[in-house]
Amino acid sequence: MNILLDEFEVFPWNKNFEIGIEVIDEQHKVLISLLNELASTLTRGNQIEINHVFSELAKYAEYHFETEEAIWADYFGDDSWLSSHQLSHSSFLPRVIELKEQEINKPQAEIIECIILFLIRWLAFHIMDNDKRMGLCIQNIHNGMPLEQAKIAADKKMSGSIRILIETVMGMYDSLSTRTLALMRESHARQKIEKELHKTNKQLRKANLRLESLSITDQLTDLFNRRHFNSVFMREIKRARRDKTPLALIILDIDFFKKINDNYGHSEGDRILIQVGQQLKIICQRPGDYAFRLGGEEFGVISSNLSIHGTAEFAEIIRKEIENLNIPNKYSSISQYLTVSIGSVTKIPDEIDTIDNFMSIADKHLYKAKESGRNQVVAKE
Ligand code: GH3
Ligand code: MG
Ligand code: MG
Repeated sequence: MNILLDEFEVFPWNKNFEIGIEVIDEQHKVLISLLNELASTLTRGNQIEINHVFSELAKYAEYHFETEEAIWADYFGDDSWLSSHQLSHSSFLPRVIELKEQEINKPQAEIIECIILFLIRWLAFHIMDNDKRMGLCIQNIHNGMPLEQAKIAADKKMSGSIRILIETVMGMYDSLSTRTLALMRESHARQKIEKELHKTNKQLRKANLRLESLSITDQLTDLFNRRHFNSVFMREIKRARRDKTPLALIILDIDFFKKINDNYGHSEGDRILIQVGQQLKIICQRPGDYAFRLGGEEFGVISSNLSIHGTAEFAEIIRKEIENLNIPNKYSSISQYLTVSIGSVTKIPDEIDTIDNFMSIADKHLYKAKESGRNQVVAKE
């Protein structure tokens, strides 16, 4: 389950917080929405964002206190209710700053969380008790009571069961906000883990792809290996059987390769195998053509694009292209350059055809090509 952090409010607004003076109620709502915003930036953990919202909240609180005090002053003049309310306001910011500067070593997030809980307690109590009491008193004045009587009536209304109710609500808000903060933190941590997991999965998939490609590749020549030859052949023989189309298998073997190793060295032999592999890759570009190193100095080509006649032509192209690489093999008894002998088989596979009999027919033709003097193609059914 993925809960959006912004759906959380540490301090949900309730109509009972309204004190009946519109401008003050509106400002209280703004204060509380800033407080909710501060809590949600806290769980996102961006310090610049936290500081920004924090200073917005502090600025707005000051502006609100000024507005409120000006309204109270109209009704209370030099009465002690105004001065004690002013005192309550003026203790607010220094207390917040004091909390913010506490214990330098404490993590910033912990400090802000502490401040948020203080703000919630302070604002909830101040609005529900102090401001509401002032609001009630003003209502009483509007109803024609003199100030002293209006104060007594407001105090009376705020005592007894209301008092207990406020304390109950305060307790509920306290535990609600603590739990919400914990939930927000947990949700944020989960999102972070999910992101990490997603990243790890991506890396794993990439590593798997790399492994897969390694397992089908011949490390020296970078052509497909014998193992992949088997699986491609199985797939292609099934398809050719179903579609009743010819399947061609071409096998080529370098002539007198042993002489290369013996006279030019094994690493030169390796280099030449790479070169032949690259050339074969270039020739087998069409979809349905696949080139493989079958082992040693033997290569294979599978093609689903060729008739018997086409296979003979294609095999001849391969033979020529490799001869035209002009790789010296002066100890070969048939040419001064490196050559290959090629045997192939092309047929529409029937039910009893298998990879083995395709291989043995192509091998037989290759043997014939060798026997007849090498550097030639034997392409038959
Ligand atoms: P033929 O014309 O009859 O095919 O003669 P050939 O010398 O090519 O055939 P032979 O089977 O006698 O020798 C093949 C040589 O290929 C022997 C082996 O050492 C060499 N060889 C096999 N794999 C590698 C390899 O990975 N690197 C190198 N440098 N040589 C290899
Ligand atoms: Mg050979
Ligand atoms: Mg050989």
